[in-house]
Amino acid sequence: MTTDVLAPAAAEAAEGTGPLADAQAQLSAAVAALGYETGLHRLLARPRREMTVSIPLRRDDGSVEVLTGHRVQHNFSRGPAKGGLRYSPAVDLDEVRALAMWMTWKCALLDVPYGGAKGGITIDPRNYSRGELERVTRRYTSEILPIIGPERDIPAPDIGTDEQTMAWMMDTYSVSVGYTVPGVVTGKPVSVGGSLGRSSATSQGVVHIALAALAHRGIAPAGATAAVQGFGKVGAGAAQFLAEAGVEVVAVSDQYGAVHRTGGLDVTALQRHVAATGSVVGFGGADPFPAERLLGLDVHLLVPAAVEGVLHAGNAAEVTAEVVVEGANGPTTGAADEILAANGVLVVPDILANAGGVIVSYFEWVQSNQAYWWSAAEVDARLEARMLAAWEKVLAVAAERGLSLREAATVTAVQRVADAHLTRGLYP
Ligand code: NAD
Repeated sequence: MTTDVLAPAAAEAAEGTGPLADAQAQLSAAVAALGYETGLHRLLARPRREMTVSIPLRRDDGSVEVLTGHRVQHNFSRGPAKGGLRYSPAVDLDEVRALAMWMTWKCALLDVPYGGAKGGITIDPRNYSRGELERVTRRYTSEILPIIGPERDIPAPDIGTDEQTMAWMMDTYSVSVGYTVPGVVTGKPVSVGGSLGRSSATSQGVVHIALAALAHRGIAPAGATAAVQGFGKVGAGAAQFLAEAGVEVVAVSDQYGAVHRTGGLDVTALQRHVAATGSVVGFGGADPFPAERLLGLDVHLLVPAAVEGVLHAGNAAEVTAEVVVEGANGPTTGAADEILAANGVLVVPDILANAGGVIVSYFEWVQSNQAYWWSAAEVDARLEARMLAAWEKVLAVAAERGLSLREAATVTAVQRVADAHLTRGLYP
């Protein structure tokens, strides 16, 4: 990759490591495969719009803290920007840029009419009260209000945020414009216009793809084993749906530790334990297990569903799973990708595997904008059909062009975004 096509910050990241370097390297490979010229590469590599805001917060003890938040809109060629909002101490602008770019490709790959965006606040939500989190959310929403809206940019939950966060965002936006605007966010509670099936959509989609990938490798769910890293909105649901499909989920982890049970965990009981204690650690129906050994467990299926960069040059060779399905965004670094490919591990990329959330977010936005609600069965059937159509498309492109699934998914998506851009033309 020549760094001259990139923004200075992106070029810096491309020379180093981290999610933005990985995202830029994936784009460069797709651009090379598609034979695009430098100007088009430059356009696709840079975010269309970025906003960084200060968020003054009065804490419950009366002191004032000032937090930092970002919203990055990577591309709008195919429609309004779309992407999650993350609350984590690890949030920085480069991470948000990478996640926004991946959202552009994800929306294009799944053929939902959106561009890509992402938001984040550098905060550890565990250290703040509910009232403080509400104030942070409302102030952040108010700061980014000029650039969001149902026709501009539609946030959704991600790490550290949930339905309640989206309800506060929707309310803040609505109060500001003077009428209720359910379409400004997705992943909101059903009671304020959320969609049936949205809260489980990402994990449900991960499992549709995981079962298809296992079948592709000739592995039936009954008798298959799995390990899931991360037991939040994506990981816990994925473990649950895998268990319901007959897969033995033998180990799961969260940021505090891991648990293991030969023969499979009782995922429902584990969810109850996590709801009561906040962690998988201490679950009576399993043995404690060193979390760092989870990715190397002898299982058929590995689902990283926590954070970026967990499979890297230092541990990818330990993976013995046949199939890795990326529930998280960016869990596999470029170096790890090469090692996994050399070892014959089938890696299903994030922009395909975890796209169930944005598909049902799209359904939710359509329902919100039309004020016409679908049944859970309709949502589930349309989600499955879209996920499996994208899976077939990526498999076909990979076979046709001799690419990995990640390369095939990125090439397909980048081509759709570039086509939209070229058709619209450059203004002025
Ligand atoms: P979450 O905050 O609900 O859960 C995150 C989980 O990961 C928690 O269990 C946490 O303890 C665990 N975790 C954090 N660091 C860890 C580590 N180093 N090792 C093991 N576990 C760790 O977040 P989420 O919404 O489930 O998101 C998880 C991933 O899925 C993120 O990469 C996110 O971008 C991606 N994703 C989420 C959605 C969605 O709809 N929520 C959609 C697409 C992709």
